[in-house]
Amino acid sequence: MTAFIKGLEPYRIRRVTFPESHAILLRGNWKGESSREELIDLVKEDVYLYVSLSWLNSKVVEGITARPNRLEVEKLVGECSLDVVHDVVLSMVIMRAYRLGTCPRLDRDDFWSGSLARAVAAKHFGEKLGIDFSLRCFLSGLFCEFGRVIFGGAEPERYGDLIERSGESDVVLRQLEREAFGIDRDSVAWACLRDYGVSREVFGTLLSKSHRTRYPDASGGEIELVGPKVLRIATLLGEIISSDMAPRRVLWDDMVKARNELEISADDMNALGDRIVNDWWSWGDLMMFPTRTLPGFGELADWNERGVKAKRYNATGGKPLVARSLDSGLHILLVEDDRVVQLATRRKLERAGHHVAVANDGMEALAILRQSPPEVILSDWHMPGMDGLNLCRFVRSSEYGRRMFFILFTAEVDEAKIVRAYEVGIDDFIDKRSPLPLLLARISAARKFLLHWEHIDQDRRIIRMHCEVSRLQAAKMRHDSLTDTLTELPNRRYAMERLRDEWARSDRSGSDMSVVMMDIDFFKLVNDQHGHDVGDVVLKEVAFAIREVTRRGEAACRIGGEEFLIICSDTNLSAASKCAERVRVAIESRTIAAGSFDSNVTVSLGVAHKSAATQNLDALFKAADEAVYFAKENGRNRVITWPGMETVDKRADDFGRRSAG
Ligand code: GH3
Ligand code: MG
Ligand code: MG
Ligand code: MG
Repeated sequence: MTAFIKGLEPYRIRRVTFPESHAILLRGNWKGESSREELIDLVKEDVYLYVSLSWLNSKVVEGITARPNRLEVEKLVGECSLDVVHDVVLSMVIMRAYRLGTCPRLDRDDFWSGSLARAVAAKHFGEKLGIDFSLRCFLSGLFCEFGRVIFGGAEPERYGDLIERSGESDVVLRQLEREAFGIDRDSVAWACLRDYGVSREVFGTLLSKSHRTRYPDASGGEIELVGPKVLRIATLLGEIISSDMAPRRVLWDDMVKARNELEISADDMNALGDRIVNDWWSWGDLMMFPTRTLPGFGELADWNERGVKAKRYNATGGKPLVARSLDSGLHILLVEDDRVVQLATRRKLERAGHHVAVANDGMEALAILRQSPPEVILSDWHMPGMDGLNLCRFVRSSEYGRRMFFILFTAEVDEAKIVRAYEVGIDDFIDKRSPLPLLLARISAARKFLLHWEHIDQDRRIIRMHCEVSRLQAAKMRHDSLTDTLTELPNRRYAMERLRDEWARSDRSGSDMSVVMMDIDFFKLVNDQHGHDVGDVVLKEVAFAIREVTRRGEAACRIGGEEFLIICSDTNLSAASKCAERVRVAIESRTIAAGSFDSNVTVSLGVAHKSAATQNLDALFKAADEAVYFAKENGRNRVITWPGMETVDKRADDFGRRSAG
């Protein structure tokens, strides 16, 4: 925390605050049985977290499932280690929290989409190379450029200028960043993530983003790390699939070099590339980040080998999407048992620029369909085994088959039979004896139809994206209105709302309720001797200390200049006193270095409990306030409890007499 705050203080780097329900993620002491329960709650309530965790835990990436039940979540958390669950959940939350930004040249959607591409690639390469921390490869991939978001958030306009000046060269940009901010992009990412509590294992790889792969070991030799190599090839691959240009030659050549080094064959690479792209699409859908449509990986390789110039995948240069291969020919599955017709038709279609796969009957077609779904099925009617109509029935009954354009290719002329075929679900039929131009015209009608689907999809995605953004904006506004800007703790308004809620709840259910009020000792002196700015840093550090030691059910708020209130639900007097003491010790033992200040501060705390005799909130508040006053009078840096008028202990007894007299 301090390194991060100190190094970047001039740029007013702000820690993003998470919802209170996510506070568990930020606590240093999150381990243990009760935290396990809290993590399970969190994952259960947030289907995005659940899906992310299940995808990362398994090799398959499947569609979004319904809200999971508790048993499913417990099982999943049991399968991963608690550390891993914490890292993944925290990372996903961080990614979402940093989704909106104002830097003109750094589109956060594109940024995170590219980061996801790199992350997915890192995971696949990690698995391919048998690395047992492939999941952490994912997280390293996700965050290894995170420093850019921090720079862009701290100084949007200025960082926009740097990007402009860098002329799209990352090397130049890194240099400009160092000059402008006096700190390295990787160090910023590292400091910030460490500050949030992401575990060291993630940085092990992250730190070697310089792609150094050899490190000196204790015995004077060298050890070779695989992590950086994985990250390097993942970075290249991520750039290839997420940038809006077809891979530039150098990028591709670098990738080929990197894969040779890792001894991955070209065929393996193509298969891996396709899987990575598919997973990237799924992640993009889940997180609602734009992805890009791409031809198959083998085809990309072809382009490069044939030296096809960089070409734009997507004329709008921006958000998705034009159908995967609509502009470079359709993927057609030809199902035909007659070898002569099969061969001739295939050749015609291929000459017209389409990609054709063939099956000899319906059963074979089904197998191919599942592996590499085509856009168009051109199927014969009469075949041994499964005929064309039955194939159509099967295709239409599956989710993925509903959008395939199904053309029956037949010599059948019986009108009634053809009408029945339409009822089963074919989109069109072509007479086998039709001349070539007619066949191609029908296929291009199919293309138009498929494009409509794509546009509908595109609109849906944009609408979903807008909804998500407005939801986030509304949440952010509400959050801001209840948050103190200096310390990022909940503010006085929040405290008052929360107190009223807790009071009502306690009245209803008879549960305990206590409050801890605290005030920094001699704070005016800090301001007077070291300046107001230093005073501000001290306030932030105090807030951070409080945050670190408060637990679930203890809501800490800043209610005035150097006054804080902790609202303790379901807490009796003795437990609340313990909470207060925990906070007192944490603050006293925290050395704060800021400007000319290099010392600690202390606080005086007053604890009050809602008893039958406490008439209302004001009375509870006043009791805590008076206890603070009493702590100040009695030497400061201490906790005084104020149990209410009916049970008065030793200290309160003195207090009672003093205030009466
Ligand atoms: P005591 O131990 O009796 O509480 O002494 P104190 O000096 O802390 O008490 P006092 O209430 O006189 O001083 C509080 C000071 O806190 C006065 C005010 O300038 C300062 N303060 C209030 N809000 C802020 C803030 O946001 N930033 C800074 N730097 N100072 C603040
Ligand atoms: Mg036939
Ligand atoms: Mg005060
Ligand atoms: Mg004070």
